Amino acid sequence: MSTLNPPEPEVLFENEGYCPCCDQKTKFVARNAWYRDHYVCSHCGSIPRERALMFCIDRFYPEWRWAVIHESSPGGRGASCKLQAQASGYIGSHYFADVPPGTIRDGWRCENLEKLTFADESVDLHVTQDVMEHIFDPAAAFKEIARTLRPGGMHICTVPLVNKEQRTEVCAKLGPDGAVEHLREPEYHGNPVSDKGSLVTHRWGYDICEFIFRSSGLFTEMVYLDMLEHGIRAEFIEVLVTRKPIS
Ligand SMILES: [Zn+2]
Repeated sequence: MSTLNPPEPEVLFENEGYCPCCDQKTKFVARNAWYRDHYVCSHCGSIPRERALMFCIDRFYPEWRWAVIHESSPGGRGASCKLQAQASGYIGSHYFADVPPGTIRDGWRCENLEKLTFADESVDLHVTQDVMEHIFDPAAAFKEIARTLRPGGMHICTVPLVNKEQRTEVCAKLGPDGAVEHLREPEYHGNPVSDKGSLVTHRWGYDICEFIFRSSGLFTEMVYLDMLEHGIRAEFIEVLVTRKPIS
């Protein structure tokens, strides 16, 4: 019997290592030169930015298992699965237009990052993975994250800094009537709760740290890791660590 499945592409690169997301020895395998999406852990299927984020959470917030963690728009793989399984205070949220914010649907809390329903200083750790490039009003989101963080808390996130040293570009905004105004050719990324995908609103550069400071008053460290032993190598996998000071 013939099969309609094309043969798997050949392995371009592979190495043995230890995966920070599934916590075991594994083989990392790339069958496509774009490692960012294709250099996967053969056990858990995680990709480099997810392993970089988990590595940073372990190092910067080692007490995360006992923390109140809010993750916006978890992707159901890698670091999200580990946080959900092992942190007793984990709250995952998605934005559902037809559900009152702050209520739960199918185990997910409905939250709009630009207008969170969490009380002031009630969250230890906010986590976002490739979310901030889809927000229409990221200044409001960073401000809300800062408001809801406990002193000593952190926002640890990945976001593709595709513009690098160039200034951040706004790609789409909301007009006064609420309609989307495209300032360049629309680009969409996969969305776990929508088949339509998520529109890219910002092509961020390294100036995101200054943007966060201006929006929230908080300082951000940008961490770039290249650690083959943990399967961490790819473009655009900087991890941003924003801290709220204790006093
Ligand atoms: Zn893994």
